[in-house]
Amino acid sequence: MCELKRALDAKGHCVLEMPSGTGKTTTLLSLIVAYMLENPHVVRKLIYCSRTVPEIEKVIEELKKLLDYYEKQDSSYPSLTGLVLSSRKNLCIHPEVSTEREGKIVDSKCHSLTASYVRDRYNHDDTTPICQYFEGFSMDGKESILPYGVYSMDDLKQYGRDRNWCPYFLARFAITHANIVVYSYHYLLDPKIADVVSKELSKEAVVIFDEAHNIDNVCIDSMSVKINRRIIEKSTANITLLEQTVAEMREDDAKRLQDEYQRLVDGLKDASVARETDVILANPVLPEEVLNEVVPGNIRNAEHFVGFLKRFLEYIKTRLRVQHVVQETPAGFLRDLQSKVCIERKPLRFCAERLASLLRTLEIADMTDFSPLILITHLATLVSTYMKGFSIIVEPFDDKTPTVSNPILHFCCLDSSIAIKPVFDRFQTVVITSGTLSPLDMYPKILNFHPVIMSSFTMTLARPCLLPMVSYSIML
Ligand code: SF4
Repeated sequence: MCELKRALDAKGHCVLEMPSGTGKTTTLLSLIVAYMLENPHVVRKLIYCSRTVPEIEKVIEELKKLLDYYEKQDSSYPSLTGLVLSSRKNLCIHPEVSTEREGKIVDSKCHSLTASYVRDRYNHDDTTPICQYFEGFSMDGKESILPYGVYSMDDLKQYGRDRNWCPYFLARFAITHANIVVYSYHYLLDPKIADVVSKELSKEAVVIFDEAHNIDNVCIDSMSVKINRRIIEKSTANITLLEQTVAEMREDDAKRLQDEYQRLVDGLKDASVARETDVILANPVLPEEVLNEVVPGNIRNAEHFVGFLKRFLEYIKTRLRVQHVVQETPAGFLRDLQSKVCIERKPLRFCAERLASLLRTLEIADMTDFSPLILITHLATLVSTYMKGFSIIVEPFDDKTPTVSNPILHFCCLDSSIAIKPVFDRFQTVVITSGTLSPLDMYPKILNFHPVIMSSFTMTLARPCLLPMVSYSIML
């Protein structure tokens, strides 16, 4: 506790190794909550990141016990709100959507009921299906503040049912004013999600990464992309469908495409309004200054952009024709791309956001169908944004079937510090903790940060935790 307190006082980051079973979660929660209550202007928020849903639920249970204890001691509940944020799959209460098992399908179905254009259509035609819980929440829930207390997933669902509000959107809004937020690593480390969910969180926050022994892998995975033949085939089908839809829209409602063109001239910032529900295609990496820029002329027109995507996809297809393993840098890849299909770096950077805008304009509700093409645009944006810390590897075979040709293009992130850098830069204290973090000094090196405290606590066996047992048996 003393070490952690020192890190909080110094407003710096720390690495703490605490063996399992030593009350790590309770210790961290008790000290930081006490610190928040005592110094509300120094630490405004606690963001507790864990890996799995059961671990997240466990933290919430501990937090409930802690705040109940405060209530018992002070005879009043502390003025704190804590809640869990999880995916739509875990929080949805819509009778049909919530029966889906796969997260992507739940996201997509939710999107098809809540997207801004679906709701606009409902205003003219009330047979259009929408989600009553989302409507209830947008009407009354956005202005309300959750009462003090700790809310697990079940509590949020019940709270939502009682008021006809969507628990997922309620939690998404509530995390900005809640004092304690418990969620998965991905909400902070995966730029595709963090940009949408965690952007507004207060800087005077303490972030805990629990069970962080393989945090580097999570960082690397969140920035890597894998493309195989199936993805290429599906993307080709996506492009054909996109082409048809654009052509139909050009005939029926050309004004809408023209409006989109105009929005893109004004910059991506404006193009991304109404992102709240249209978030599935969040931009993976583009920094703020690029979002303020004007979208390059050659991809502003919908038909030109579809043609651009076609050329890029053809190029990737040719790159998959390999007999042996090929390794390349992003700079080499871009040079080759420029010389073979005349695609430049700048429009490539805007690919992910440009496709998001086009899908919104075309009012395509089922986003899961377009996930292969979305992945291709993420590759385009990543490869043109990062020159260092990444490598492109094309393998002719899958590891599991080394005799069958199954080429895969890996866009690999080799530097785990890239994904976590915004977290260290933004928040005042980041605590990296786990039962096993040895060697301790490795983490600051691979994640590229300077901790003010690094400590390893060993478990003492002073108490008789283990008792020898002697048994014998008599053979008759
Ligand atoms: S808005 Fe909420 S309740 Fe409605 S479908 Fe989406 S996640 Fe489910």
